[in-house]
Amino acid sequence: MGEINRTNGPDKEKIISEVLEVFRSLDGNTVTEKMSDKADLIGTHLFDEPLIGFASAQDPLFDEYKRYGVIGPWFMKPEEWLPGAGTVMSMFLPFSDEVKKSNRESDTVPSDLWLIGRVEGQAFIQSFITAVRDRLQQDGASALVPLVDERFRAVKGGKGITGYDGIDEKTYGSNWSERHAAYAAGLGTFGLSKGLITRRGVAGRYCSVIFDTEVEPDERPYEGIYDYCSMCGACARRCPADAITLEHGKDHTICAPWLTHSGELYAPRFGCGKCQTKVPCESQIPVKKFRDML
Ligand code: SF4
Ligand code: SF4
Repeated sequence: MGEINRTNGPDKEKIISEVLEVFRSLDGNTVTEKMSDKADLIGTHLFDEPLIGFASAQDPLFDEYKRYGVIGPWFMKPEEWLPGAGTVMSMFLPFSDEVKKSNRESDTVPSDLWLIGRVEGQAFIQSFITAVRDRLQQDGASALVPLVDERFRAVKGGKGITGYDGIDEKTYGSNWSERHAAYAAGLGTFGLSKGLITRRGVAGRYCSVIFDTEVEPDERPYEGIYDYCSMCGACARRCPADAITLEHGKDHTICAPWLTHSGELYAPRFGCGKCQTKVPCESQIPVKKFRDML
């Protein structure tokens, strides 16, 4: 693999091609015998190639995220994670067609493939994003992945972070948000189900890395945080826990216990994802106007 060209400024296309090379060369994106005893699942790949977006670490949106009601003051800006931060690279890894299709079937039970994608798939994402970080570091950049940084904290039902007003039992979030990073990097907008809808849909996982090089940010082809959501309500009708309403979107205080319960039923895995599959935004932007713009 060649070096990222830092002599004449950062070469975005080269960074992208190196990220894709890391993705293609890494183990863990395929169901193995260790993950499942079902012969027909062995060899199924979990994620398609990532969509990649770039945001400036100085983007004013990161200040906005510190406001109560957006994320909150516990959100750490790129510069707070990595002094001298120049760029946030965000990635969306869409679940493969096989994973999505499998979870369309039942209205309540998560498919085996979905559960594997959610748990072993997340382990793959973690090794992928740390390999991308290592690659950037080898090329001379200073780079950091908030998800695996020791300062990363999640707020679950008001627990996990203390010392701020405005955290109550309804507060779910963290001091870094992959979806908000993806929004800033032009990858998509939020949906009623609180997932981020990209041009490859909502069914998938996100990750990001902050590094010191300044790369030209991607445009955000949207203005409103829900532009890509048609507000069709299909995710609300699909949710087996009734955690989503047209009026208020997803209520984490209902979804989270449902996921916890799934962990009891399907241990050591957990998951649901019904709001991300068999819905119009599963694999595309459901609003034609925005779909046509891309
Ligand atoms: S299913 Fe419909 S309402 Fe729900 S997030 Fe997708 S587009 Fe929006
Ligand atoms: S993950 Fe499941 S329980 Fe949670 S909002 Fe989506 S469909 Fe509902």
